[in-house]
Amino acid sequence: MDNMDCGVDDIVREIEKLKLDKKEIENRIGQLEALLSKKDGDASQMEDNQTSSNFNSMVDGHNTFYNGLTPGMIYRYSRHLLLPDFGVEGQKNLSMSSILVVGAGGLGSPVVLYLASCGVGCLGIVDSDVVELNNLHRQIVHPEAYVGQAKVKSAAATCRAINSSINIVEHNEALQASNALDIINKYDVVVDATDNLPSRYMISDCCVLLDKPLISGAALGLEGQLTVYHHKGGPCYRCLFPIPPPAAACQRCSDSGVLGVVPGVIGCFQALEAIKIASCIGESLSGKLLILDALSSRVRIVKLRGRSLHCVSCGENATLSQQNFRTFDYEGFTQSPMSDKAPPKLSLISNSARISSREYKNLIDNHEPRMLLDVRPAHHFRITAIPEAINIPLSMLADEISLVKSCLKDAEKGSTKGASLYVVCRRGNDSQRAVEFLSKNGFSGAKDIIGGLESWAQDVDPTFPIY
Ligand SMILES: [Zn+2]
Repeated sequence: MDNMDCGVDDIVREIEKLKLDKKEIENRIGQLEALLSKKDGDASQMEDNQTSSNFNSMVDGHNTFYNGLTPGMIYRYSRHLLLPDFGVEGQKNLSMSSILVVGAGGLGSPVVLYLASCGVGCLGIVDSDVVELNNLHRQIVHPEAYVGQAKVKSAAATCRAINSSINIVEHNEALQASNALDIINKYDVVVDATDNLPSRYMISDCCVLLDKPLISGAALGLEGQLTVYHHKGGPCYRCLFPIPPPAAACQRCSDSGVLGVVPGVIGCFQALEAIKIASCIGESLSGKLLILDALSSRVRIVKLRGRSLHCVSCGENATLSQQNFRTFDYEGFTQSPMSDKAPPKLSLISNSARISSREYKNLIDNHEPRMLLDVRPAHHFRITAIPEAINIPLSMLADEISLVKSCLKDAEKGSTKGASLYVVCRRGNDSQRAVEFLSKNGFSGAKDIIGGLESWAQDVDPTFPIY
């Protein structure tokens, strides 16, 4: 018992001692923290005093501007001012300029980020699209939180967070012939960061009419291009391309893919050209084309044809006027849509040669003998496919007729009736082209699945990946 009592006393005493120690340690920590915060406070006070005394000494002078720049601008853009070839003049010119960026996508993202951060006086952004998750790999100005919201709103918010001292104007609308003159007229320099042919012609024409330099970029797949139109006697877009290329030659990122960093690099070059023109330094890419090959990281600059005297837009007898510009049908002229959206759903074959994705699912459930031919390119097929599908890309179909025949025969094995041939693609256009071809080549019963894999994902299997 004694031993036990003694043990308890020892424990109590030790607890008391530790409590005292703890109190002493806490007191000491408190003293040291107070000392530390006093030292921090003194240091920042000294810094504040220094900054405000520097600031005040400049602001309180006869002028709050030093060679056109406020003390705040001198501090923010000091690394620009230190460049002998840019300096105060360059920054001042930039801060007095206004630049319109058409498109807040893959190209527009780095353009607006750099133009905002470098202190362009007024930055306009025009776009009518919303932020989409499958574009964020290249549209780096948009945070995830803005998915589903207007791109212009998202881009402007990011730019304001980077530089609250410049004027950012949001044009949350599609730039079209009907509004382009009014919008572009408010700016000194225009950056074309769109991704479609009719916009390219329209923006170039508008810049010629309003006499604005135009920095035009393009990026697709693993390649990018960049030039400056209608600047210092250089050609406009129509001088080089009086006749639009066939619509089939114009690919879209949503169909052909694009490595995210490629528009990033081209967009940075566009920002560079815009900054040089707005600040009146260096030599622009007018009359020259910069070509980026991402796989080799090679950049080439080739000379372009000069201005064409016969150009309907900027030539000697130009027929383009503000009046006919407003009503010009750029989509009709180029035979392509003014957006990067999916191509319209075609209706090439009769309804009797088509079935819905739900109907096809019923055939599977009823174990109907069948063959499913997927005519997408092989690299699309590798992304995702309906498990039973056999892949023969549309471009190879003519050479693979015997393969279709043998696969169809295999599908008939163990069945008393003949197997039917069904064709699927991504959206339901190529599958119709394939059925058209197949029906002329001995497969009269071939049918396409309406709406392709997109409708399969929507109507049959919501877990099926879309891309
Ligand atoms: Zn021209």
